[in-house]
Amino acid sequence: MALVVQKYGGTSIATAARIKSVARRVAKTYDGGDQVVVVVSAMGDTTDDLIKLAGQITKQSHPREMDILLSTGELVTSTLLAMALRDMGYKAISLSGAQAGIKTDGTYRRARIVKIETKRIMAELEAGQIVIVAGFQGITDDMDVTTLGRGGSDISAVALAAALGAKVCERLTDTDGIYSADPRVVPEARRLEGIGYEEMLELVTYGNKVMQPRAIELAELYNIPIRVALSFNDSPGTLIHGGVSMEIRNKVRSVAYDLDVAKITVVGIPDKPGIAASIFVPLAKTGISVDTIVQNASINKITDLTFTVAKDQMGDAMKVTKPIAKKIGAKDVVSDANLGKVSIIGTGMQNTPGFAAKMFATLSEKGINIELISTSEIRITCIIEESKVKEAVRALHHAFEVEA
Ligand code: ASP
Ligand code: MG
Repeated sequence: MALVVQKYGGTSIATAARIKSVARRVAKTYDGGDQVVVVVSAMGDTTDDLIKLAGQITKQSHPREMDILLSTGELVTSTLLAMALRDMGYKAISLSGAQAGIKTDGTYRRARIVKIETKRIMAELEAGQIVIVAGFQGITDDMDVTTLGRGGSDISAVALAAALGAKVCERLTDTDGIYSADPRVVPEARRLEGIGYEEMLELVTYGNKVMQPRAIELAELYNIPIRVALSFNDSPGTLIHGGVSMEIRNKVRSVAYDLDVAKITVVGIPDKPGIAASIFVPLAKTGISVDTIVQNASINKITDLTFTVAKDQMGDAMKVTKPIAKKIGAKDVVSDANLGKVSIIGTGMQNTPGFAAKMFATLSEKGINIELISTSEIRITCIIEESKVKEAVRALHHAFEVEA
């Protein structure tokens, strides 16, 4: 008998009817002879609604209270799912994050799991129960409830799969898998049968927001395969795994895009040690997450420094950067919020020449100007005008004949 962890996302449990249909799917897995631990998100937009509601009460931040408030969304779904299963004649029990032994540090709103004490879950499984755990939450040593960050039920599910030695973590929701590109942009995009952890991590970081990046890091660390599939039928979905398939070598696996890019350039900076730190340390302290950074080669000891941030952080980033630029003797600070990025991703490009050249040629054939370029070993990203991003995705998908 093996153990399966199934995680159901918010849309698949958004109504009473859907919770009942999830119960039927869970029951089927249990009937197949596996032990089942289910992790649930909150119904539909519950978490957003709770955040809005709190905003109508207070403009202050109350992180401890907020985390208890947000954790209630997942309590609703876990208890209702347990009731649905029990009505069907199954033994089922819901557990809050705390009851499930999920111990975290004390960083409210984005706590990290420190350990999982599996005793209670194990005992319930031994007793033949289907165990339903409220996702997205844990508890500190001081018994304060924490949440793991938006989309955090993915993290709960993978962490439980690792702690319990599950054979697979199934992530079931309204997406039927990972695609070679966003099918809304590229109609001929194909569902991938499998994708490596590294590639998946690049993909979620560079546009495809299907999963919480930390969940993928965790899965890689403990080598837990994740199957991303639809909750309401038995389609195979996509397996995220650690193995390398021979046939995918030398291929681009997926083309990703992100429309949320703003660029800031500090112009005419005297090039001397400590300049980059003087800009990026204060940005980090303000909680601004900087993405691509490019410093030009200096001419006559004068250089330009460009970096990108999310659009909603551009105003704050400008506020921090302007006075610093003045202090370090830079000529100007300019910004551009109409940008996006397009990336090609695949382990196949490691140590294989020609991918960058082909990407740039493809964009230039479409008359698309590249503003910035950033790369990892298995990814090339070009920052371009926002209005050209979708056209670029289509052209690149075609040029690289992305294979499923
Ligand atoms: N309900 C939480 C959120 O919306 C956690 C999750 O859905 O995974 O962020
Ligand atoms: Mg949610």
